[in-house]
Amino acid sequence: MNEIVAIVPGTFDPVTNGHLDIIKRAKRIFNHIIVAVAVNAGKTPLFSFNERVEITKGVVKSDIELRDVTVEGVKGLLIDFAKKRKAKVIVRGLRAVSDFEYELQMAFMNRRLNEEIEMIYLMPYIKYSFLSSSIIKDVYLNGGDISNFVPDLVVKAMNKKIGRRSTQ
Ligand code: ADP
Repeated sequence: MNEIVAIVPGTFDPVTNGHLDIIKRAKRIFNHIIVAVAVNAGKTPLFSFNERVEITKGVVKSDIELRDVTVEGVKGLLIDFAKKRKAKVIVRGLRAVSDFEYELQMAFMNRRLNEEIEMIYLMPYIKYSFLSSSIIKDVYLNGGDISNFVPDLVVKAMNKKIGRRSTQ
């Protein structure tokens, strides 16, 4: 059987248990998973590009279920990166209908750019369906406990980042 490489792209600002759920589901289907951390010029991330790559790498490395998953930072078009890595599939998570419109636009655009790469959508476990990196940041900034929603390493990274910010 052909080896199928799948890319799981995102901003990962920061990576949450919802992202990990999607990566694990993808891993059960495809032979090799590359998590692609995007620069994302359209958003103003809390964590820098390098920090997001490093945190995501650290989280993936410390999870035995994610053995063999690789993490790479991606600058430029995702579809070009996918082609370079010989990936056939891009996997995205769909939480709610609100994700759908944006994903549909992106899927059609990606198809225009490269017809050979398919976008595939996976639904997370229901308990993660409300979770987003933005909500995590909001909760954290307002003093809430995020430890049930993100890996320990992310809590540590948030402590370091926000702690440093508040002293500036
Ligand atoms: P982007 O800016 O590319 O949307 P995100 O890091 O916000 O990057 O999300 C990356 C991918 O992970 C998207 O497909 C998004 O729908 C999915 N995702 C994010 N949070 C969750 C979650 N809680 N459950 C399922 N999928 C999720």
